[in-house]
Amino acid sequence: MSWEILEINQPHVAKMISNSMRKGRIAHAYLFEGQKGTGKKEAALLFAKRLFCLTNLYKEPCETCVNCRRIQSGNHPDVHLVTLDGNSIKKQQIEQLQEEFTKTAVESNRKLYIIEHADQMTVQAANSLLKFLEEPSEKTVAILLTEQFHRILPTIVSRCQILSFHPLPTERICAYLQEHGVPRQLAILAARVTNNVEEALRLSQDDWFAQARKIVIQLYEALNSEYVQALLVIQQHWLSHFANKEQMHIGLDLLLYLYKDLLYVLLGEEQHIAYGDCMKQFQRSRFLYSEKQIAQHMKVILQAKARLHTNMNPQLLMEQLVLQLREGSAFV
Ligand SMILES: [Zn+2]
Repeated sequence: MSWEILEINQPHVAKMISNSMRKGRIAHAYLFEGQKGTGKKEAALLFAKRLFCLTNLYKEPCETCVNCRRIQSGNHPDVHLVTLDGNSIKKQQIEQLQEEFTKTAVESNRKLYIIEHADQMTVQAANSLLKFLEEPSEKTVAILLTEQFHRILPTIVSRCQILSFHPLPTERICAYLQEHGVPRQLAILAARVTNNVEEALRLSQDDWFAQARKIVIQLYEALNSEYVQALLVIQQHWLSHFANKEQMHIGLDLLLYLYKDLLYVLLGEEQHIAYGDCMKQFQRSRFLYSEKQIAQHMKVILQAKARLHTNMNPQLLMEQLVLQLREGSAFV
């Protein structure tokens, strides 16, 4: 993530960081809180780069100097990242960090550490950290990251400056993608699949994604005609295109948004639909489904997504889904 992207994604966070750097008022500890995918870790790394950048000290990092590059690759001796050891962050990890920080900074007069999943510190680890935070050093900056703010000890929270990260509105991502030449029909779907601007751009510029969209429409059309047709789409196109779990998630999301569109059409809210070019099919199928049936279809797609985590055979999973999507429709 670049500074420019941070300004688009989390404008208030970018502004807060810029202001404190400019005024020389850098806090000893920050708590970055917000949902997964809102770019907290990337923002923490950008913060570190701003502190250590050799070209633009305290300004937007250059991303090319040796410090920026070492922070990016996790090799800067004065920037430490603590992350989960198994399911938790353990006391020894915090103690190691403290030990590291009693030494003087190797290369500059500053040190910075980032603790990912700070809500998953064991009680002992949290108490060790608390002691550490109670004796702030001028030269030390802590950045704690969490998706579960309410699980952080209040005594820790009170010692941190809190920066909240918000999910980006879909429309804003969509507009950004269109500014970068992505056609609206792909931009709107990519913006729904991911809340990360860079990922959405990469996805929407990939032919794979346009093809994925076509296969999803094909499956939907087959589901509305013959059961065997739908199975053929699965066997001939779906399984080879959505070849791994991550791709399957995207495929099922795209299918989910298609049924959601159908619901919009039924409710007379066509302005929200993502598959604008399928309007004719939707108009036809509006007589085939009730709102309740569409809601049921969306539910089984979500269940299939959940089943991806159980390592179920993908072919079996999709065939079951097709069967469930046929059930209760006007054809059975
Ligand atoms: Zn730099």
